[in-house]
Amino acid sequence: MAKQFVVIGLGRFGGSVTRTLIELGHEVMAIDSNARRVQEFSSIVQHIYQADSTDEQVLKELGVRNCEHAIVAIGEDIQASILTSLILKDLGIKKVTAKAVNDYHSRVLEKIGVDHVVHPERDTGIRVAHQLNSNNLIDFTEITADFSLVEVSSFASMHGKTLKQLNIRARYGCTIVAIKKPDNKVIVSPNAEDKIHTGDILIIIGSNKQIHYFEGNYE
Ligand code: ADP
Repeated sequence: MAKQFVVIGLGRFGGSVTRTLIELGHEVMAIDSNARRVQEFSSIVQHIYQADSTDEQVLKELGVRNCEHAIVAIGEDIQASILTSLILKDLGIKKVTAKAVNDYHSRVLEKIGVDHVVHPERDTGIRVAHQLNSNNLIDFTEITADFSLVEVSSFASMHGKTLKQLNIRARYGCTIVAIKKPDNKVIVSPNAEDKIHTGDILIIIGSNKQIHYFEGNYE
């Protein structure tokens, strides 16, 4: 079902969130204080306003409180990000997601009641480092601080073997929860007799320690 979002700040992060929400069929209101940014997005966002989001009165007049979910995508100006998030929570917006540029910023956002703090630069850095660490790693998603879900290309030595023969859970402690085939078919919860072939992508869940061990030591 389409939801109503308000994105504040149309920089690289906010712009990309806005584009994707629209592609996913959601209604998006966008606010940026910079005229050039507003102009850039005016052809794809129907309700777009050039305004300073630290002005509570302006946010009220724009009807921001009718949105279910607000995304504060102001990075550089930490003070504006914090003040905007505080006003949005005071206005009673059910869900506020805000981008943090460092740990102090993140801690303040959490203290003032932001529901979800995201760290795009830090998270991309972690993901890229994992990809650099292993030639086979395609994607990496942190589930908690200790557990992750990874997508790994099958290793050449796995070709033609069953999961039972590979015995990954016993050897590395992590579990293959799905296998993506080259034709995009997905085997969810594969069984012991399912075979791995070259070109398959394994979706694996485990503790970070187990996954690092698997990535670095699989033979
Ligand atoms: P990114 O790193 O994602 O590009 P930036 O911090 O560079 O993020 O961009 C944030 C955007 O937020 C900019 O387009 C800027 O004009 C906008 N912005 C900053 N402060 C305010 C504010 N008080 N009200 C509205 N928009 C703002």
